[in-house]
Amino acid sequence: RTRMVINFAAGPAKLPEEVLKEVQANLLNCNGSGISVMEMSHRSSNYGKIQETAINDLRELLNVPSNYKILLMQGGGTGQFAAVALNLIGITGSADYVITGSWSSKAAKEAAQYGKVNAVIPKLAKYTTVPRQSTWQLDPKASYVYYCDNETVEGVEFDFIPEVPEGVPLVADMSSNFLSRPFDVSKFGVIFAGAQKNIGPAGTTVIIVREDLIGKHLKTTPSILNFELMDKNSSLLNTPPTFGIYVMGLVFKWIKTNGGIAGMEKQSAAKSKLIYDIIDQSEGFFYCPVDTNVRSRMNVPFRIGSAAGDDALEKEFLAKAEAEGMIQLKGHRSVGGIRASLYNAVTLAETQKLANLMLAFYKNNK
Ligand code: PMP
Repeated sequence: RTRMVINFAAGPAKLPEEVLKEVQANLLNCNGSGISVMEMSHRSSNYGKIQETAINDLRELLNVPSNYKILLMQGGGTGQFAAVALNLIGITGSADYVITGSWSSKAAKEAAQYGKVNAVIPKLAKYTTVPRQSTWQLDPKASYVYYCDNETVEGVEFDFIPEVPEGVPLVADMSSNFLSRPFDVSKFGVIFAGAQKNIGPAGTTVIIVREDLIGKHLKTTPSILNFELMDKNSSLLNTPPTFGIYVMGLVFKWIKTNGGIAGMEKQSAAKSKLIYDIIDQSEGFFYCPVDTNVRSRMNVPFRIGSAAGDDALEKEFLAKAEAEGMIQLKGHRSVGGIRASLYNAVTLAETQKLANLMLAFYKNNK
């Protein structure tokens, strides 16, 4: 190993070591240009190839149908909270939001600035569940139905793709589980993902949008968030985050050589099972509040000592982890406790180290 730590961060998160080494090797001379990718005109053919290859590789990885456009934008997930509404809510003036955690809640608040937002489910007391679709109140006249496929803070991941009324597009925030399992793109109107968890450095956002949904934006939509303008300009309306797109392209290649999305799914299942099994077999010493069927494979939140968490034990656990090189395991400030993020770049061997530490800690403190 060239790196001495194991990074369980929730995002920005670990990138594959092979990718970082390739970035390093090409930093001073990218693809024979004599300059780094950061110093290259975004209008040059050298950079053009980098961006085009990244988009084509993503299309191949996800089997994106030809009537879908892949856009690369800036502004992260939060930029898309606004962009989705600005580009789509004008269709009928209102949209349905399924609020299952912090991020979908923020998205709904942002959208409410641009149109009417309907909450599809009653407000949840705790974000630890996904109410079954039979209980949802969907509006057949909604511009779109919005949900967050993986709530990064609470560790809640959908175990199904929602069914939507005929003609209503489905919009998904996949920022924190993108490319970790295959899915049928044709079931969606828009899918978006900020890069900084599974696919690259912060600063780049991927949008997959069905062609017929392009051009329905509100008149006041800023150019930088306008799907139609971005599409017309092949995501080169203005200077894109070139370095981030370059690294993301390398991550797509890395996924291709590591079993594709199916390979990522297999790894994710194995890694998260390791940790959840220990939690479930610890007789309550470790506690994960999330319903078993919607426990995230990407972000595993847990408390130590009791359901409310024993402060001293959790501090001790984090210190022990750090002493063994396992870093960024602290839970989100809004929920506390521990959160182990097991994105694509985190290996099974690394996850096993965390599992070993948890077992030893349980035996010493139960
Ligand atoms: N959606 C999800 C699911 C996220 O996890 C995050 C960031 N943690 C965001 C949106 C917001 O992303 P950004 O910080 O890139 O705006």
